[in-house]
Amino acid sequence: MQAQGAVALRKGEEFLLNEMYVSVQGESSLVGLPTVFVRLYACNLRCHWCDSMYAVEGGEFTKVHVDDVVRRIRELAGGPEGIRNVCWTGGEPLLQGESIAAAIRRLPETLVHSFETDGEVDLRAFDALVSDERDSGRLRYVMDVKCPGSGMKAERAYANLGLLREQDEVKFVLQNRDDYEFAKRVLASYGTKAQTVLFSPVVAAHKVSNGLESSRLAEWILEDRLPVRLQVQLHKLIWPGRDRGI
Ligand code: SF4
Repeated sequence: MQAQGAVALRKGEEFLLNEMYVSVQGESSLVGLPTVFVRLYACNLRCHWCDSMYAVEGGEFTKVHVDDVVRRIRELAGGPEGIRNVCWTGGEPLLQGESIAAAIRRLPETLVHSFETDGEVDLRAFDALVSDERDSGRLRYVMDVKCPGSGMKAERAYANLGLLREQDEVKFVLQNRDDYEFAKRVLASYGTKAQTVLFSPVVAAHKVSNGLESSRLAEWILEDRLPVRLQVQLHKLIWPGRDRGI
C-alpha cells in the first residue's frame, strides 16, 4: 500500500482503491444478491459509528488504473452468466466520480451499479457524467441522510433528495430515538422520487460502543405505521466478527 499524502490522482484514469472482493450484498433492496464490491479510499465525512474507517484515513490504499479495476471487476463477476451487480462504496466513492464513469463505460451494459454515497456530495456532477446510464435505470444511488448521532450535519443531502429517481434509495442510520424523529421530519419535509427508504440501526463501531436494538427500531416503525424498510446488515449476521471483505 502507498502512503497517504500529496497523492496526485489522474481523474478519469486512476482510482485510490482500498479493496475489491465478492460478497453477498448486505444492504439496500439488492440485499442477498452476490455482488462485486469496489471500496474506494478517502471520505469527506467522519461519522462516529463508521464501520470502514480503514477506507477513510490511515493511508490504506493502492493507486490503480481504471483499466485494471475494470479487468478485476470482470474477473470477480465471473463472466456474462455470473454476478450482475457492482457496488461502489468506500469511503465516499463519488469523490472519484470521473474514474467510476470511465470504468462503467468499459464494462458490460448488463451490470447494475449501486453507489453507497453519504449524501454530502452534489449528485449533479456524477449524474452529468453518466446521464445515459442513469436514464437506463441501471445506476442506482443508495444515499445516506446523516442523522445527528453520526456527528455529521446533513446539508447537501436535502437538495440531493430532489435529484433522486425511482430506482434510488434513501438511507437513515439511526443511533437513538432522536435520530428516528429526525428521519421522520426529513421525510415529511423534503420530497423525493426514490421509492425505497431504509432505516438501519447503528451497530457498535469506531467511537460508538452501543448500537440501537433492531427490535426497538422495528417497534417504533410499526407503532408509527411508517412505510419504510427496516434494514439489518445481512453480511454481519452471516459473518459475525469479520470486518473486511464482506
Ligand atoms: S460517510 Fe461512510 S465512509 Fe465516510 S465516515 Fe461516514 S460512514 Fe464512514
